Amino acid sequence: MEFIDFYDSDYIRTCAAGARHSYIEDMENKLSYFEKRLQSKNFKVYWAATENDLVEMVKEILPSKTRNKVCFDLETIPQGFKDSRFSPISIAQLENGAQTANVLFTQADFGVVDTGTLVFVNRKSKNCFQRVEKIYVLLDISKLVNKPSDLEVILYLRSYCQSQKYLPQDVKLMNAPHLILSERINSNGDKITATEVEVTVFLYDNGVTTILQDNELRSSLYCIDCGRCKTVCPVYQYDKEYTPIDLVRANCFEHHRQTGDLEKRALLCGNCEQVCPVQIPFTKLIIKELGLSKLPKKGILSMTNTFEKRKKLNKMSGSFYRRFFVRKIYGKNRMLFNYFKYQKEPFYNILRSQQIKDDEQ
Ligand code: SF4
Repeated sequence: MEFIDFYDSDYIRTCAAGARHSYIEDMENKLSYFEKRLQSKNFKVYWAATENDLVEMVKEILPSKTRNKVCFDLETIPQGFKDSRFSPISIAQLENGAQTANVLFTQADFGVVDTGTLVFVNRKSKNCFQRVEKIYVLLDISKLVNKPSDLEVILYLRSYCQSQKYLPQDVKLMNAPHLILSERINSNGDKITATEVEVTVFLYDNGVTTILQDNELRSSLYCIDCGRCKTVCPVYQYDKEYTPIDLVRANCFEHHRQTGDLEKRALLCGNCEQVCPVQIPFTKLIIKELGLSKLPKKGILSMTNTFEKRKKLNKMSGSFYRRFFVRKIYGKNRMLFNYFKYQKEPFYNILRSQQIKDDEQ
């Protein structure tokens, strides 16, 4: 058996990056194997290319009632589910038995290809799996790992990034629908135990295959959702709409590029790249995205030059110079200008900031 030293953080990072690489680079084959594994265990499987597809598909397969009671445990509930066919039930209502639901619609954080397992991490609805007859599971197709040991490494690394502790998180594994017994209370207060909960898995593309076709952008799919990049992103502190990794991905698509989000939102500080445990090359990706944007060539050049001059910028310890620089580059962006206006610490890059602290000690 392979020995993994969980106290050697560099080694874990290398293992995690390797695990992501081995799945992403062979995604097509692995996904089709995963689908077969799920079907062999009696999971129903659908593919959803876009959010609209997902909504339409769900509407088609929902029990044919005018109004279905659905408990959602999704990061973002697609707009299409907010119509009169759905009556939302909260997780708390379902958990304490105040309400029943026709369907629990939840999201898996990972899938394990070799074993056909769905993995739920810190999901509030995990205690409700036995309270419904149907569970719909959304799974992003980039969030699979090849084998259980890869999952172990990634969960340990995520936990370390989030809490500085190598502790296993609140993890629930679903191996087969027939292992779940459904428990409900009927109107007379009697407990009903059904034999099987029907589990339908939606393998959700949502742009992943577009990213996959690009040799450089593909590395953005290595993300393990540890959340570190957003904690060090100065723009995210002000505007919670995009995390750095969301920003890189969102700009892959024409309609986002036209909005000019990238140039307004990327401060080019490079913090995200320095903290990412799976070494996603943010700088390279953002420069590439800028090249695809509709900015005038001159504007792109000045921004890419900024990256190249980062070392120099990091030495700008006086806040006046930093504000002057930001005003020059991002003159119309009040959000970023204000950030620098109130920024007290010498800041342009966290490594530089760390170096200053070390020098002072
Ligand atoms: S991109 Fe951000 S969330 Fe994803 S692994 Fe890197 S630091 Fe974590």
